[in-house]
Amino acid sequence: MNVAVCVKQIPDPAVPGSLSSDHTLDRSGKLILDESDSYGVEMALQLVDAAGGGEVTLISMAPNDEVSGLRTALAMGAAKAILVSDPALAGSDALSTAKVLAKSIERAGDIDLVLAATESSDGYTGTVPAQVGELLGWPALTFSRHVEIADGKVKVQRQTEAGYDEVEASLPAIVSVTAGVVEPRYPSFKGIMAAKNKPVDKVTAADLGLDASQVGWAGARQEIVNVEQAPARQAGEKFEDDGTGAEKIVAFLEQLKVV
Ligand SMILES: Cc1cc2nc3c(=O)[nH]c(=O)nc-3n(C[C@H](O)[C@H](O)[C@H](O)COP(=O)(O)OP(=O)(O)OC[C@H]3O[C@@H](n4cnc5c(N)ncnc54)[C@H](O)[C@@H]3O)c2cc1C
Repeated sequence: MNVAVCVKQIPDPAVPGSLSSDHTLDRSGKLILDESDSYGVEMALQLVDAAGGGEVTLISMAPNDEVSGLRTALAMGAAKAILVSDPALAGSDALSTAKVLAKSIERAGDIDLVLAATESSDGYTGTVPAQVGELLGWPALTFSRHVEIADGKVKVQRQTEAGYDEVEASLPAIVSVTAGVVEPRYPSFKGIMAAKNKPVDKVTAADLGLDASQVGWAGARQEIVNVEQAPARQAGEKFEDDGTGAEKIVAFLEQLKVV
């Protein structure tokens, strides 16, 4: 059972972020493993263990040959990684990112299952996993709060507002998992040392057969034209109940067109 996990390396959320002049997040500093993706890594390790064989391959697209976040996931127990880093990828929107990830999964070869998070912590469009599934021609199961492999199929509990749906698909497939699907392990000292020597295949867009016009600013179908501070939250309106409180609340809600 070979599982690939898409892991995004993001600026440390504990440090206040800043925007570059092109309105994208400044990713020039050290990047770390997105906590959302640590759940996918843990899930993959458990599925490979349960299958009794196979390995976990990490897939990441990040600027400046960044491997810090990958080393964390390798220290958790993943076997190897593919890192796509290329100045031509600057400005890539979600679809271009999905193209890069899909090509990387094909490069990994012999993958039964791909895991990703439901949404990243710094971009959170939540669109990449389904796009990767479409590009590969594989089923995409999303919002999974429980994942198991049985009878050559992947079976998930798909989180809904009211509870969950049970959904299954043939393999290979891509599954996006919610936070809490499993409890991610802390890398051990032995794992951290071992991670230093695990293979990271560093590739460019051209190595994946992607033309520069399909990715980066050239291939982006979105443009961030302006960014503004979110307006400060206004003070609420307070109603003293003098016996007419209920009417005042109803009138207020009618004004908002919610009743
Ligand atoms: C106009 C525009 C310009 C941008 N310019 C840049 C740029 O110059 N440099 C830059 O680094 N980013 C840039 N980005 C953001 C980058 O392309 C995002 O990674 C991409 O849009 C994915 O969006 P998301 O994080 O919202 O994905 P989501 O769909 O929220 O992510 C869900 C999951 O998909 C997987 N995933 C998503 N992105 C990656 C990734 N990169 N590697 C591995 N797994 C991943 C992870 O498992 C993640 O948890 C830009 C985005 C836009 C819209």
